[in-house]
Amino acid sequence: MSDRRDFLKKTGLLGLVGLASSLVSNEQIDALENFGSEKFMGPMFRLPKLTYGYDALEPFIDKKTMEIHYTKHHQAYVDKLNELISNNTTANMDLGVDDQRKCKNIDAVTSAVIRNNLGGHVNHTLFWQLLKANPKANPNMPAGKLAEAINNEFKSFEEFKKQFSEKATKHFGSGWCWLIEQEGKLLITTTPNQDNPLMKVAEQQGKIIMALDVWEHAYYLKYQNKRPDYITNWWNVVNWDKAAELFTQK
Ligand code: MN
Repeated sequence: MSDRRDFLKKTGLLGLVGLASSLVSNEQIDALENFGSEKFMGPMFRLPKLTYGYDALEPFIDKKTMEIHYTKHHQAYVDKLNELISNNTTANMDLGVDDQRKCKNIDAVTSAVIRNNLGGHVNHTLFWQLLKANPKANPNMPAGKLAEAINNEFKSFEEFKKQFSEKATKHFGSGWCWLIEQEGKLLITTTPNQDNPLMKVAEQQGKIIMALDVWEHAYYLKYQNKRPDYITNWWNVVNWDKAAELFTQK
């Protein structure tokens, strides 16, 4: 029988265990561990349902971007995970599996492929939840304990926004900008590709409170190369209720 924690430890994804179990189930992890196995029963990973329409975040995040981001980009991570756990030749070739179903460097290869795709799936699942409609562009701010913690750490919400925007703008290439809690302190950090602060490979690790996708696919259709404009507009559709929920979650 597979040991879920051992597998995640090996692949550097141990932090994902701590994430809400609704995002990644025990059964999904078991299936990934036994990738390519005969036991495969069918697709296990699925796109999470969006609780709003593709056009709900207009005019800040446009309908076309949302549709492609969700149905093509996120779907691709889900498909890849299902391919990995299926008895699929292409997936096996990616993993370097030979005719005898042996993989030369299984830890390294599965680690990279699973890290990218499981990371992509988890990050986007969180990202969708951390967005919400605000068609009238009402001032959008955190409240309660999270607002207090942000004021304590960054002096003011405005100062926090400035620092977060700067960090997200300056992150080179594809990746994510995060607000995390690390040993009781709030911290802004970025990760490359589909890594996240729950992974032990991350420079800064901690509990995720806020996530911003800064891959070009998240903004290029509407904002082209102007990432700062995307970030300025994104603040309008941040779901602070969800952020507060993540903040207070054990
Ligand atoms: Mn994305």
